[in-house]
Amino acid sequence: MFQINEHYLQLGESYLFSTIARKVEQFSATHPGADIIRLGIGDVTLPLSPAVISALHRSVDEMGTKESFRGYGPEQGYAFLREAITETDFRKRGINISPAEIFVSDGSKSDTGNIGDLLGEGNVVAITDPVYPVYLDTTLMRIGRSDRIRLLRCSGENGFLPELPQERVDIVYLCYPNNPTGTVMTREELTTWVDWALVNESLILFDAAYEAFIRDESIPRSIYEIEGARRCAIEFRSFSKSAGFTGLRCSYTVVPEELMVITHSGESVSLHYLWNRRQSTKFNGTPYIIQRAAEAVYSPAGQQEMQVMIDSYMENAAVIRKGLMDHGYTLYGGEHSPYIWLQCPDGLDSWQFFDHLLEKCHIVGTPGVGFGAAGEGYFRLTAFNSAERTVEAIGRIARLSSTR
Ligand code: PLP
Repeated sequence: MFQINEHYLQLGESYLFSTIARKVEQFSATHPGADIIRLGIGDVTLPLSPAVISALHRSVDEMGTKESFRGYGPEQGYAFLREAITETDFRKRGINISPAEIFVSDGSKSDTGNIGDLLGEGNVVAITDPVYPVYLDTTLMRIGRSDRIRLLRCSGENGFLPELPQERVDIVYLCYPNNPTGTVMTREELTTWVDWALVNESLILFDAAYEAFIRDESIPRSIYEIEGARRCAIEFRSFSKSAGFTGLRCSYTVVPEELMVITHSGESVSLHYLWNRRQSTKFNGTPYIIQRAAEAVYSPAGQQEMQVMIDSYMENAAVIRKGLMDHGYTLYGGEHSPYIWLQCPDGLDSWQFFDHLLEKCHIVGTPGVGFGAAGEGYFRLTAFNSAERTVEAIGRIARLSSTR
């Protein structure tokens, strides 16, 4: 009989969003007139910007003529996009990254999952709890439920930032600004992790999908702002949340050329070489028209339009933060992130608070326990709804709190 990768059987069912959908459906059926506001969504809601739309139209037309039609492109991405990324995201910020170190892809979900192809099964892997579930599930797919997975517990006590592991760890996934907690790492905090990785010869997988939401220049947007990170970190970036590409699909991964690993036989091997080898074997490139759309994000108009979009989400985040703080909620995030992570009031657990909010305010959020056991007792709200609906939602929560 053929065999399967039985590690897949050890994955927990992903009940979170299906349970939310079922509960909302049941509630709507029993309360037909209820005006439900969704503050649980992790997807953007604003349309693509005019600069991106024009680039899409232009490149679609190019595909329709013999002279400018494009077939397969370079697996690593077209030079025009890799140059634009390097110039705006790194060089202009004084960060040393070259176009050759950029690998354009169709999403950070795929890349943060696929990076495991390069990693040996014997590694001890550290993952924060709570967490964006892709890191944990793809690690489980690779090595199964094993004592080589270490959960770095985050809580109110450590401000939802992980502490350095006390025991040997080879690989750590870090995501800042964080999903789901919205927390960020200061330059000093990130430096501590880079120094730890260099001393321990460990690898940091740094997910910067939300870097565009950082409002304060002193907070690092890239791990490569930290001295030595080129020798110990891979960074993942996405156009999904920053430029509204969740439906278009474009991202990139930075693998510096200095990032080396020593094999069992003592040979020094470059991770850049390995990722290039992996991508050119298993991936045939991001569509040309999508890469032209991503290039347009770096045009002056594209940059300005992207900023307007982010500002509008961040105004919603500020409304949520203020409304909740005024009513005595303990919360994290929302200052440099579209996510607000709040402690459920009155000792309610995550699902009890979900039901309470739906029942009393007709608002849908995401129970923190869905992101890991350490998320129990917490709840995630997002800034991706419209300004009007966000204000309305927070007004409802405020009225509810006043009657407590
Ligand atoms: N990384 C984090 C932390 C995310 O929250 C998400 C999406 O929600 C992604 C990556 C996925 O990004 P992409 O749309 O590029 O696959």
